Formats: sequence, structure tokens, C-alpha cells
Amino acid sequence: MANVRLEDIKRRFNNVTAIEDITFEVPDGEFWVLVGPSGCGKSTILRTIAGLETATSGKLYIGDTLMNEIPARQRDVAMVFQNYALYPHMTVAENIAFGLQMRQVDRKIIRERVETVARSLSLDNLLDRKPKQLSGGQQQRVALGRAIARQPQVFLLDEPLSNLDAQLRDDTRAELKQLHAQLGVTTVYVTHDQVEAMTLADKIVVLNRGKIQQIGAPQEIYAHPANRMVATFMGNPPMNILPAIYANKGFQVGEQYISCLTEIQQELNLTQGKPVDLGIRPEYVYLQKTEDKNTQFPTPDSQLPTPALTVALKVVEPLGREILIRGNIPGTSVLLNAQVSPDVNVRVGDRLSLELDLDRLFVFEPATGDRLY
Ligand code: ATP
Repeated sequence: MANVRLEDIKRRFNNVTAIEDITFEVPDGEFWVLVGPSGCGKSTILRTIAGLETATSGKLYIGDTLMNEIPARQRDVAMVFQNYALYPHMTVAENIAFGLQMRQVDRKIIRERVETVARSLSLDNLLDRKPKQLSGGQQQRVALGRAIARQPQVFLLDEPLSNLDAQLRDDTRAELKQLHAQLGVTTVYVTHDQVEAMTLADKIVVLNRGKIQQIGAPQEIYAHPANRMVATFMGNPPMNILPAIYANKGFQVGEQYISCLTEIQQELNLTQGKPVDLGIRPEYVYLQKTEDKNTQFPTPDSQLPTPALTVALKVVEPLGREILIRGNIPGTSVLLNAQVSPDVNVRVGDRLSLELDLDRLFVFEPATGDRLY
């Protein structure tokens, strides 16, 4: 069994704590993705598993073996980096075979394995080429091939697609997913790209500032983010965050009132004047109507709470399948984003009434970002 288990791993560099309280277990054969913004500690965790970094404290197991003191080369893991690090003077075949030759594997087995790996990565026509005669995507596939040929217990992939252009990245991502389904090798994959995380992972570990924010299946994390950081990091376009104040059984946002569901009132027992951050994903904000430009914006005095907010349209971004619109909520600097049908006819400067699906509203504590509801 090649499960990977981290128990309370911490790594300090001089006075800086890069990662702490890192505890999770990747079951044998699963594909886990570590995701988070730059500097959150993703690579440090991966390098610790690989043995390229030593934990300041905590325990690392691969299978049942405690790995802390075991050197990298004896860990039976293969790591692929974003810069492919191929040997420029060797052919594709020699690059793929390199790890096996180092282990003095029988020549015949090496040849067979190189052929199988090359076929599964569509590299079989390129085996005699040198790296500089390959595209970036092909080079990255060779780097993957070199890792796969070794048949390690665990794959560790550090942003392996980030040097590829958008189309190639999508294609290679799909190939990686197929490959994992085929090989079933335990994989830990690092990326800052939440789309890669969502599409590839059995489970996602969201990190921020060296700490785990949430661990869960992609849809679970998307639908039930643990806090504001996870909510805004996962999803593109990101979740809208509206600073608000609880007042008169509604939420005051700028000069307007949004209704507060009875469930929220009861569960949170909110007091008058309590500041909160409301969260709503752009796909749950609907265009209700375009108002006459001369209509006054609603004011707290003139308005009972409703599920809608009136905004001044600032940005229109056609995305083909839909249009992303961004409207300013008067009295705030917030742009409320909504994904609307490509058929709607709206222009910058329009005054729009946008309805929020209140069943999809999240409530966060402004100071800590913790999710209250
Ligand atoms: P990126 O996406 O930018 O690669 P990351 O999430 O992989 O970032 P790490 O590279 O793991 O982040 O770094 C985590 C923190 O530890 C950062 O603040 C970084 O500056 C610090 N750090 C990493 N390696 C060292 C080192 N060798 N010496 C000092 N600080 C380090």
C-alpha cells in the first residue's frame, strides 16, 4: 500500500514558518491536489514528501514506513517539476530510460518499458529526437514519461502544466487524468490553478499562509467552503463578497437592503448593527430588469428588504456561452458580478436590478473570514 500520511508536519526556515499543522492522508491510488496562492507552502509540502526538504517536526509515512530519516532516492517516489529538466544531450528514449538505467534494470525490460510509456503518452514517433527538437508540451510529456517508466509508488507533480500554453495545458490535463485512471498510482499534485485542482482531484487540500484551510472533494469544497479564503479562491469568476450590516431583519449593503432568510436570522441570532460579509457566486445572481436611467437608487428609508440590488453597470465581458457583467453597488466600492445569458442587451452605464438567490447566500465573519452560514 502506498498511501502517503503526513502527521502534524511543520517546516521553519530560520524564523519563518513556511508550513505548520499539516496533517492529511492520501489513500493508496488516489489523486490529491494541493492548491493555494503563491507562497502558501504547497511546494514545501511536496518537497518534504519527496525528501528534498526536511520537516522541522512531524511525521511522514509512505505506506507503513516512517520516511523522515530516509533519503530521497530510497523513497520510491518520482517527482515532475514545471521546468522539465530533461537531459539536453540525450534522446527522448534515453531520457525516459535514464532512471531505469541508474537502477541497473535489465536492458530488455528497459526497452519494453520505454516503448509502452512512449505509446501511452503519444511519444512513440519522437523517441530519437533531442529535447530541443520538441515543443514544450512534448518535453513535458517526456518528463512525465521518465517518471512513469520508473513505476514509483508515488507521483509528486509540482505545477507540471504551468509552462504550457492554454490549449496544450487543457489537453495535457485531460491526458494526465486518463493516465492516472490507467496507472492508479498515488499522486500528489501542486498547482495554484483552481481549475486544474477542480478537474483533476479526488480530494483537494486548500492551503493559505502555510496552513490547511479545507480538505474535500472538489464539489464539496465549491458548494461548502469552510471560510471566505476558500470561497473566493475556488471558482472563476470568484464568489462575490459584499460587506453588509444586519439591520431591521435585512442586510444593508451600501444604501440598499437585502432580505435575510429566517433560517439565517434564527441560526446566527444576529444583533442590530452586526457587520458581516455576504458571499454569493456570480451564477446565482440573476438579471431581473434594466431600470430607467433616471430612477433613483433605492435608499434604506424607501425600501423594504428584497432579494434584489440595483447596480450601475461598469463592465460587460462577453465570454461566448455567457456574459459576465460587473455592476457597482452605490455607496460602496464593490462590483457585483453576475453571469447572464449571451442574449441580453446591456450596456455600460445601464442601471440594473440584480436578484440574488438567497438560498445560495453565505455569511462570513468579516474579521476572521470564518463561515457563519
Ligand atoms: P509558489 O506557488 O509561489 O511556488 P508555494 O505555495 O509553493 O509558492 P513554497 O515555495 O512552499 O510556497 O514557500 C512557502 C513559504 O516558505 C514562502 O513564504 C517561502 O518564501 C518560504 N520558503 C520556501 N523555501 C524557503 C527557503 N529555502 N528558505 C527560506 N524560505 C523559504
